[in-house]
Amino acid sequence: MESKQRQPERRSLKIGPYEICPIPTGTFGLDGGAMFGTVPKVLWEKSNPPDDKNRILMEARALLLKTPGRNILIDCGNGSDFVAKYGEKLGNKFAEMYGVDTEGPSLLKSLKAHGLTPGDITDVILTHLHFDHAGGATTEKNGELVPTFPKAQYYVQKANLETASHPNLREKASYFPANYEPLQKKGVLKLLDGETANLLPMISTYISNGHTQGQQIVKISDGKTTLLYCGDVVPTSSHVRLAWVMGYDLEPLKLIEEKKKYLGPAADEGWYLFFEHDPYCDAAQITRQGSDFAKTTTFLL
Ligand SMILES: [Zn+2]
Repeated sequence: MESKQRQPERRSLKIGPYEICPIPTGTFGLDGGAMFGTVPKVLWEKSNPPDDKNRILMEARALLLKTPGRNILIDCGNGSDFVAKYGEKLGNKFAEMYGVDTEGPSLLKSLKAHGLTPGDITDVILTHLHFDHAGGATTEKNGELVPTFPKAQYYVQKANLETASHPNLREKASYFPANYEPLQKKGVLKLLDGETANLLPMISTYISNGHTQGQQIVKISDGKTTLLYCGDVVPTSSHVRLAWVMGYDLEPLKLIEEKKKYLGPAADEGWYLFFEHDPYCDAAQITRQGSDFAKTTTFLL
């Protein structure tokens, strides 16, 4: 699939002690209509061309913050071991249903490209527990589901774990205990209660409840350079515009208010917005455009 967007600019970023390393975990496909809510196809199909099943290409892009002593991962992509996790029936058709690419980059292959093994990851911040964000958090090993990163402390919002454990009808197909129960069992899942300032050095989290209850987005800033890991608040660069929200969002109007709140300073202070699901770029900078926002430059980091 060809995108008609302008070529992204290459840039390497360091924020404080952290080397900023995008970690592609593999592409998948979701229905284009569901990804753009009320936005007509004639508008989104230019930037996100659909396949013959109307699915658009999505990346599941984690982010590695690399230092010599500490390696922090934000989100984990779809993962693998679908049969062990979701059972014979769903597991077998899972990759096909979501067009999950199992040939290209994966979470572990991308970490390896940065010289890291699972044992090198010290912290994993999960924006929320939907399968395309937390699927890689756990792995099957000798018939048992275990944390993928044996030495890591994992972080998620308490409110998100609660909603994952008692999902509403619309999110039932996105929250699977196999992606978080093994973390609880091993006692490595730390529950956060609301926004955090300096959860880890130079890393803070903001809360958003419009997409799902208790999503946290992650801000990394050394005062000079700031990057916001947008999670499903702004899943692709097309979603920078306020009204471009997903059909999946539980409370679209609330999400639009949250986008206003977080994109304002991003536009005014030149933050990098990091996109988890954009297959064509890793990040963008944005500007105000009337009462809305527009991207100025997109980047491959
Ligand atoms: Zn989500």
